Amino acid sequence: MIPLVYHPAYNVSAFGLERLHPFDGGKYRRIHDALIVRGLRRGKDFARPRPVSRQELLKVHRPEYLRSLQRSETLARALEVPIVRRLPCWLIDWRVLRPMRYATGGTVLACRLALEHGLAINLGGGYHHAAAGWGGGFCVYADVPLAVKTLRDDDKVGKVLVVDLDAHQGNGTASVFREWPWAKIFDLYEEDVFPAHKEAEDYPLPVPAGLAGDEYLDCVREFLPQALDEVRPDLVVYNAGSDPFAGDPLARFRLTASDLVDRELLVVSEVRERKIPLAMVLSGGYSKESWKLHADAIEGVLTRFDRAR
Ligand SMILES: [Zn+2]
Repeated sequence: MIPLVYHPAYNVSAFGLERLHPFDGGKYRRIHDALIVRGLRRGKDFARPRPVSRQELLKVHRPEYLRSLQRSETLARALEVPIVRRLPCWLIDWRVLRPMRYATGGTVLACRLALEHGLAINLGGGYHHAAAGWGGGFCVYADVPLAVKTLRDDDKVGKVLVVDLDAHQGNGTASVFREWPWAKIFDLYEEDVFPAHKEAEDYPLPVPAGLAGDEYLDCVREFLPQALDEVRPDLVVYNAGSDPFAGDPLARFRLTASDLVDRELLVVSEVRERKIPLAMVLSGGYSKESWKLHADAIEGVLTRFDRAR
């Protein structure tokens, strides 16, 4: 069975304030529950991560940035909810940052499990707008850079490729990777949306708004194999944002739910055909049905790639 990583502490709830952001704070629980209801997993099948410590965060983040997270203004900016400025920091830390530290631990665990089992999925993470010294777009901790650096420090991987198919550019990840010649990023994103300033990347694929599913999938089919064959990574981390969905309020791609299932199957097939371990993280997705899009896509992957079934 493909390992799935999840902890109930991933879910964000801050007295209804989370509703001021289009982000669904209970999306991770909904995906977890749907996979159980659909008979794909039992509750005890999920691997439970521990939250990352400050010491681990320092592998990627600057100490002054971590210190700045004790100020409500920095948090309000990263989370894009201005009213957060009026809340005490301990409350934001407990209700919003702690869930993100659990999900960051989940990305580290999913990467480790991917090396052991070939494929693993974290039902969270993918905070690709967070860099060493800044955050934004609801991303505070650079979970993917932190996970691959941890494995690299343990001599478990040489080269790493991040495949980022979230609708927005993975500017945070790209910014961290610029200092690391062993880590590359392949990134298909909508060119005229957040973030305003785009970072230089190894394999950037900026595309115009309004791309339909078949055009989008053709793009992945045409360019991803080349990146995989050039980099020949020891690990791929797939940032599988569901915001290219047609109904997403923060992007303007026109993919259907079934296009997103096809996208996941395409990426997993291309990577696994080359016998490269693959860790998948969920990243963005702001439509009301985002949880269902991920649940359907993960169901597609499990149905095809769960060997024990
Ligand atoms: Zn996004």
